[in-house]
Amino acid sequence: MISSALQILKDVFGYEQFREPQAEIVETLVNGSDALVIMPTGGGKSLCYQLPALIRPGTAVVVSPLIALMQDQVTALSQWGIRAGCLNSSLDFSLINETEHQLRAGGFDLLYIAPERLLQPRTLTLLQECPIALFAIDEAHCVSQWGHDFRPEYLQLSRLAELFAGVPRIALTATADQRTQQEIVHRLALHEPAEFIQGFDRPNIRYRIGQKDKAKQQLLKFLKNEHPKDSGIVYCLSRKRVEETAAWLSEQGFNALPYHAGLRADLRSHNQHRFLTEENIIMVATIAFGMGIDKPNVRFVAHLDLPKSIEAYYQETGRAGRDGLPADAWMVYGLQDVMFLRQMLEGSQAPDEQKTVERQKLEAMLGLCEITSCRRQVLLSYFGENDHAPCGNCDTCLEPVPMWDGTEAARKAISAVYRSGQSFGVNHVVDTLLGKPNDKTERFQHQTLSTWGIGKDLDRNQWRSVFRQLVARGFLGVNVDQHGVLHLTDRCRPLLKGDERIQLRKDQRQHTPYRKNQVP
Ligand code: ADP
Ligand code: ZN
Repeated sequence: MISSALQILKDVFGYEQFREPQAEIVETLVNGSDALVIMPTGGGKSLCYQLPALIRPGTAVVVSPLIALMQDQVTALSQWGIRAGCLNSSLDFSLINETEHQLRAGGFDLLYIAPERLLQPRTLTLLQECPIALFAIDEAHCVSQWGHDFRPEYLQLSRLAELFAGVPRIALTATADQRTQQEIVHRLALHEPAEFIQGFDRPNIRYRIGQKDKAKQQLLKFLKNEHPKDSGIVYCLSRKRVEETAAWLSEQGFNALPYHAGLRADLRSHNQHRFLTEENIIMVATIAFGMGIDKPNVRFVAHLDLPKSIEAYYQETGRAGRDGLPADAWMVYGLQDVMFLRQMLEGSQAPDEQKTVERQKLEAMLGLCEITSCRRQVLLSYFGENDHAPCGNCDTCLEPVPMWDGTEAARKAISAVYRSGQSFGVNHVVDTLLGKPNDKTERFQHQTLSTWGIGKDLDRNQWRSVFRQLVARGFLGVNVDQHGVLHLTDRCRPLLKGDERIQLRKDQRQHTPYRKNQVP
């Protein structure tokens, strides 16, 4: 069988050989078994179902949430002489009729369908009347309720197992930690799938995470010094910040475009089209942008806000450097990010079980930010790869993080929170440490506290760095209902009792620019 597959690979797709582990995946499907494929972006997932689609009799059905990209895929396949079509809500009635007619007549090798369309009784009945070669479920991590791309319709895809018994199914994604992998198999009801979990490492991406100081100025410096004429993506958490940042970058002379779910659909697709087809465009976006974006030469992904999990960070940064050439994943984060995400999480209506998982995911993300050893090692071990050496291509490898004994500072900070009654936010507590009177310190007579002015040895920025690390590492908690009010946690006790010492990162004020990128 593999010899015919190899022939098709050459004749139809024009490739000389399979990449690891494409051949095995193709064989699995051709033999009628299910498969789970986790392969990094750019790894060549599409071929894994496109090729079996040509070997097995019938039409291969590809389920994808990315309606905007379907037409491009169909066009690309047509250029290889593959008969492909798509069904989704963007098509008008007559086109849908025509596509359905063509499907019945056996006119498609591949059919792309949005999940909500597929699950309509009418579509399911139609498909049951046709020979189906296989089902490919793309972006399979969307089935995870705890993930950031959750699509409720994906949960219903398990019905395919009953309705189309005997038709092999393949689930594919670029990001899934072990928990999500299990969730995919379970929720899609894959039958004893062969699992192909590719390495997660993207060696050409250089990871850097710095302390947020003046985020926009830091970004500007990064862009001017290192990517003055490159394509890239800047991620922000809110729509408002997307628009502000895009407008501001445009004023600074960059070709920056906004993208978020609140923009009109035509503007969104216009901006996306420009990003994909032109060079030297910076897309400033919320997480609504990016899934399935196949632009090989994205040279940088910058984060102005902290993502909620390592999976999200990995997926977003993974859009850089698909061509294998050097690319940057650059992020600044600060105390506000930590507080904001914690508050969102605790304040949400989600069930406790879900909150626990989300909390763990956020903690892991904070761990990655605060780590002083190789970032790539932490990133990869999160995905279960524990045997990597320090990479030499992340900020902590390139420039070891200076540490300092922060025990005294931490005790002062914690005492200041305690003495002021665990009723204030960071800025106010820092004022008491610095002995800087303000309206509130006057009103609450904080000048009389034993902690008043005991922190003059550090400046405001250094104190913010101390507080950020204490919050990130769980020594201090943030109250949900009262905006940003700090309180002590049990974690403090050994530190206050003198049983524990604490090492803190010495945060650099500015992100040191590196010499030109080199592939390691
Ligand atoms: P993914 O979906 O995993 O991000 P794609 O399926 O879009 O990746 O493939 C990434 C790139 O690799 C595409 O440009 C594709 O044409 C190319 N590619 C895939 N398989 C092979 C192969 N066996 N030989 C050469 N190029 C390949
Ligand atoms: Zn490293």
